[in-house]
Amino acid sequence: MNASNAVRPYPRSLKAGIPILVYRGAGSRLPVFLWGSIKGSGPKKIEYHMKTQKRTIFHLDMDAFFTSVEQRDNTELKNRPVVVGAKPGGRGVVSAASYEARKFGIHSAMPISEAFRRCPQAAFLPPRMSVYSQVSKQIMDIILTFTPVIEQISIDEAFIDMSGTERLFGPPFNAAGEIKKLIKQKLQLTSSVGIAPNKFLAKIASDMDKPNGITVTPFEKEEIVRWLAPLPAGKIWGVGVKTQAALQRLGVYTVGDLQERSLDYLKGKFGKQGASLYFLSRGVDERSVETPDTLKSISREHTFRTDSSDRDDWRRVLLHLSEDVARRARRYGLKGSTVYLSYRLPDFSRHSKRMPLPCPCDVTKIIYEHSIKLLSLLQIRSLRLIGVGICDFSRDHQLDLFNSQEEIQTLESAERAVDTLLERFGSGSVTRGSEIDHPQER
Ligand SMILES: [Mg+2]
Repeated sequence: MNASNAVRPYPRSLKAGIPILVYRGAGSRLPVFLWGSIKGSGPKKIEYHMKTQKRTIFHLDMDAFFTSVEQRDNTELKNRPVVVGAKPGGRGVVSAASYEARKFGIHSAMPISEAFRRCPQAAFLPPRMSVYSQVSKQIMDIILTFTPVIEQISIDEAFIDMSGTERLFGPPFNAAGEIKKLIKQKLQLTSSVGIAPNKFLAKIASDMDKPNGITVTPFEKEEIVRWLAPLPAGKIWGVGVKTQAALQRLGVYTVGDLQERSLDYLKGKFGKQGASLYFLSRGVDERSVETPDTLKSISREHTFRTDSSDRDDWRRVLLHLSEDVARRARRYGLKGSTVYLSYRLPDFSRHSKRMPLPCPCDVTKIIYEHSIKLLSLLQIRSLRLIGVGICDFSRDHQLDLFNSQEEIQTLESAERAVDTLLERFGSGSVTRGSEIDHPQER
């Protein structure tokens, strides 16, 4: 990589690109948005910016994250099958499998007993969540030296909005190489990056050349449609096992098959989700990369393997989801004033119900209790999806006016203490009253 592409942290005070007018040929005048000043850039670079004025989104995904950290920290594990998860002999599942273990057909969420049967010589290790989250933070700090517009979506994955940063970091491919190189140098871990005009395509792309790959999708409409066509329909966001089966009954196996269906047809079959299928199959995804400053809501959903009519199960899932929502809210320093319950019925229709909170909060117990109140208002027998979220964030943390203030503050500090325990001892160290499944690395 040459010197002009060397990593230079952008000036933190710069909140937005400085609009610069440049002339392109006779009579055409287009604004170009760049980070920083245009001083020193040649006509070729300007030409490049004109071509890439669309958004440039990266999806960065660490390669076999948990097991790679284990192999890094213990050289004896290098090049060996490594499985992180429950204790063999128990009833738990695999959280993560190294590439060597994947050759034996082991993958995350597989019962640990099955993993052991397939490869008894593998190293079976308990997760060290505290270490993984520490490394996760180091990764995000490295990305932050490129841009503040990062949306971390799991412990080892983030969307990065690199639009308009070419002036500083060169073409997207080079910038992705720099990010990967820095992570490798500082943390001895490899990652894969997808580069695309939106989040949906970037996420598909990062998975295409694993491990240690960079995949650039097309940026032009027609090429995007062609690029997506041969992929299995299951690659589309929100298409789980059940939707996939429903699609197959309609003769839809690939994204290309989906592209041939009309918007009305898909809406008729799948309701709102049909519209999303229609647009995503064409690579249209307008969602922005959301940082804590731009976040409108925090939510989590769970799709049941088969339609569920077990209310106890719904409650158990809601507790798990509420905990996750609250933890993310605390991480971002956000408190929601409204709780909402979202759900999908067996006919694929999507609904939601909301309820204001007595005061803005980021506490599992309160979010959970309100989601249960909302649930009790529903006269339904069966669900295929359930979710909980908070919105209407209050960013100033004033809690006047309410009697429950003290109680909430006590709960908050208790949950912060739980966060600290989780950071230090891993997710197995703290469990709530009801049994909660082990988190999966996705
Ligand atoms: Mg990963």
